[in-house]
Amino acid sequence: MILRKISTRASKVFQGALRDTTKCSKRHIIIAETNPFWTLPLALNDTHDSSYSVETGFKRIFQSKPLNGVYCNECEETTEATSGCEMVVFPPILTLLLKKFDFDDNTRTHSKTNRRVHVPPALETKEKTYELYAVVNHIGSLRGGHYTATIRSNEDRTWYEFDDTHVYKVEEQLFDGTGTYNSSTAYLLVYRASAKHDATNQIPPQTPNTSHSSRPPDSTTVEIGNDESSPKLCKSPTCKMTPPRIALIVIVSVLVAILIVVLAIIYR
Ligand SMILES: [Zn+2]
Repeated sequence: MILRKISTRASKVFQGALRDTTKCSKRHIIIAETNPFWTLPLALNDTHDSSYSVETGFKRIFQSKPLNGVYCNECEETTEATSGCEMVVFPPILTLLLKKFDFDDNTRTHSKTNRRVHVPPALETKEKTYELYAVVNHIGSLRGGHYTATIRSNEDRTWYEFDDTHVYKVEEQLFDGTGTYNSSTAYLLVYRASAKHDATNQIPPQTPNTSHSSRPPDSTTVEIGNDESSPKLCKSPTCKMTPPRIALIVIVSVLVAILIVVLAIIYR
């Protein structure tokens, strides 16, 4: 909400859309609606496995679920139905919100889970591959804590920790060695879209309509005007992620995280 108030263009970078559809057993469409989203929340308490798999949780959003006792106008009767969800607008930046803050019905108290989550380096969707490039962490309890961000620099492909005014190279680089990353502090996972066919290439591929010669060699621009396309990420070797941009990403991420916590506390 803050981002949309500050800049609708900037908020578009994070904006996708989900289409929810409920169909009867004869595949008549009972409900179909498309809604925008800026983050996708993942409930960490929906399995009892020792650690939570973000990849599985992400896929679960798009699995169809059976529904009982839904009235279909075309069948003119109450029928069994299935509800499904699909992403119809793929945001250039996909943010997953790990729902660490919850309300315990048994104890009637709010709580924060520090459940370990297994974070995948990339997520596959129908149209795009999303590559993790930033994690916002929350350290502490429900009532008090601290936010940091772990961000991979585009310049040297190295992960850095952003802790208030202190920025340092992460000692144990994410996904190093094992190719996996587990975290009990991760709160927001920020993924950047790359073209589907080039999932293994770390540098986003050239789009057909652009060439190096047609763009300034030091361009760092992320074009955000077109909803339908992913950002045209800089491919020049001289491309640098400037400190102001990193700072802006950190500030916006932390503001969004704080807002989500405040809303969670107010509305529960
Ligand atoms: Zn029907």
